[in-house]
Amino acid sequence: MKKALVFFIFLVFSTSFGQGLKAEKIHQFADEYFVEGMFTLKEFLQLPNIGSNSDNIDLNLAWCENVFKALDFETELLTSKGVKHLLAEKAYLKKSPTILFYLQIDGQPVDFSKWNQENPFDPVLKECIGNECTNIPWERLSQKFNPDWKVFARSASDSKGPAIAFIQALRILHEKKINPRFNIKVIMDFQEELGSPTLPELVRNNRNRLSADAMLIMDGTRPPANLPTLTFGARGIATMRLTVYGAYKNLHSGQYGNYAPNPVFNLSRLLGSMKDEEGRVLIPGYYDGIELTEDQKNLINTVPENKEELLTTLGIAKNEAIGKTYQEALQYPSLNVRGLRAAWVEDEVRTIIPSEALAEIDMRLVPETPAERQIQLVTDFIRSKEFHILDQEPTEDERKKYAKLIKIESRIGSRPFRTPLDSHLGNWLGSAMAHVFGEGNFIRMQSTGGSQPIAPFISELGIPAISVRIPNPDNSIHAPNENLRLGNFHEGLKMCLGTLTQKYD
Ligand SMILES: [Zn+2]
Repeated sequence: MKKALVFFIFLVFSTSFGQGLKAEKIHQFADEYFVEGMFTLKEFLQLPNIGSNSDNIDLNLAWCENVFKALDFETELLTSKGVKHLLAEKAYLKKSPTILFYLQIDGQPVDFSKWNQENPFDPVLKECIGNECTNIPWERLSQKFNPDWKVFARSASDSKGPAIAFIQALRILHEKKINPRFNIKVIMDFQEELGSPTLPELVRNNRNRLSADAMLIMDGTRPPANLPTLTFGARGIATMRLTVYGAYKNLHSGQYGNYAPNPVFNLSRLLGSMKDEEGRVLIPGYYDGIELTEDQKNLINTVPENKEELLTTLGIAKNEAIGKTYQEALQYPSLNVRGLRAAWVEDEVRTIIPSEALAEIDMRLVPETPAERQIQLVTDFIRSKEFHILDQEPTEDERKKYAKLIKIESRIGSRPFRTPLDSHLGNWLGSAMAHVFGEGNFIRMQSTGGSQPIAPFISELGIPAISVRIPNPDNSIHAPNENLRLGNFHEGLKMCLGTLTQKYD
């Protein structure tokens, strides 16, 4: 059985693509230029990069512009709703295909007091054993480096580290006078952490400027095995806020207990009825359209996965029964209660019947389950439970008339995308990774559980996309003490060199 599976995977992925640079050379170049790459990263991380701060954007944009100009790229400022984006472009070969690279330049806001260093924008090198970390002077990099050392700074992993791995690989080829094997466009996003609100319009208005044959996203963290990873999709997201109403005001629970209904019970009955004990969504039609064939499952399940270890790490006895494996579970839409509120708790608790109860829902979506449809299905399900649905606070009349009142608000976030694992782009990129690392030493992952604002590119430009994942799984992105493991950056250089020197046709 195992042999048959390996053979099957070999068959699916074994298309050959022309490679311009021997694997030994790639390893040698990565060693040779690693330290310079780290110092470039250090310099870049010193620029604060909060997307809502236009001075920050300008600073980072000017830095990127200089870097690409030095590599003989043409750069162009593209503005959408007043927000700046940078496009860099270089045509190496006439009539060759073009690959568009997406770089995320901004980072999450920081709380200086929560970091174990003075300034999250002053990168620190550390050697950590468990939670014990010692600072390493940057000069020591020039003598030798330990791949387990980490650089701590905002955006080290998300995503200036991957951006610099790509830029440094371009610089290596530039200095060695080796041309990439396709034409390159690079789009730089300075508001990814704000959900890239102006990206859809930007792509719509600059379709020709951004046109390409495929797209590679230099963003995202690796799964626990920490092998070079290619991710072929991301789930989309939609959110809903449900507010269930009781009396006008919070009431004394002694005076009105047994008389005035408590909305918490109505809300919890509703939420409880949305899923079975195995975690499967009971809302009719919620999973409609998703059919995973055995072949697809085999491909999806090539990602190394240790169920016992995963359950232990999470501290749970049993996983939900959607898909047989963790990877399979990510191919379905989720339904999650991300927050609940009614009256007060802990030190603030008081003996009242709350006047309202609120649940915040998020749904991670796949291409077969569009946001509009899922929101409608949830709404219809709530109606079937005899709730009267509102889009604002209930009026006096509505309060008189309906025993079960609920306000539903919804919002659609980024859309899902999926590139087939055995697509041309997937085979091409897979063979570049196999060339550098050997088959079996990297991961092809069908979908990440999270969301990426990439759908506008894919739908507007009609091109396939894959995300190239460099950072270590324990990188604390979005949180204090974000870090990037040096060994990951080193491998990232090789991933990028292998990609850039493989002929795409
Ligand atoms: Zn992020």
